[in-house]
Amino acid sequence: MQPLTNRSKVVSNKKMTLVERTYLPMIMVGLWITLKHFFRIKRPTIQYPEVERPRSDIYRGQHVLKRDDQGRERCTSCGLCAVSCPAEAITMVSAERKKGEEHLYREEKYAAVYEINMLRCIFCGDCEDACPKEAIFLTDRIVQADYLRMPFIFGKDELVEPIEKDKRVDVTKRQTPAVIKFKQQERFAHNR
Ligand code: SF4
Ligand code: SF4
Repeated sequence: MQPLTNRSKVVSNKKMTLVERTYLPMIMVGLWITLKHFFRIKRPTIQYPEVERPRSDIYRGQHVLKRDDQGRERCTSCGLCAVSCPAEAITMVSAERKKGEEHLYREEKYAAVYEINMLRCIFCGDCEDACPKEAIFLTDRIVQADYLRMPFIFGKDELVEPIEKDKRVDVTKRQTPAVIKFKQQERFAHNR
């Protein structure tokens, strides 16, 4: 039969020699390979958290709830991110903006409570894709490990970005050319 590759070997049933029957040569070969790897300087293990592996700008890590240029929360608590979430990790409670709160929330409705269960989240990015207000983005930040389960319910205090402009989370690299073009259109200015 025609062999598929040139790696095939013809199996023989020849009798082993006395030396082969002791298995010593092959044991020595195996030990040599083990020793060679043992003294190798280059180690594949990354010593996290002292050393961090470089991550892509579009790495899907911890979410951020964005504010607009005037510092108002962009989320209008429409719930689209929650219904698009395959892990059902997002919950929220809506509230109506009161008079005098226009500087806090961009729309008449806002999320009084917004929670993401990071233990359920599979970091698929569907919430980011579903959001019509460009309010939620995944970022290159890592969700820190913990011994307890409760700290993994992230509320608004962990999700909403700081109001100070110099402390905002930069998500520009996550925006595709199509999104940037969309944002440049005057008639969609309410989504900026
Ligand atoms: S990244 Fe995916 S799993 Fe995580 S909250 Fe968003 S939609 Fe849900
Ligand atoms: S983050 Fe976006 S999709 Fe989710 S509730 Fe807020 S506005 Fe709607």
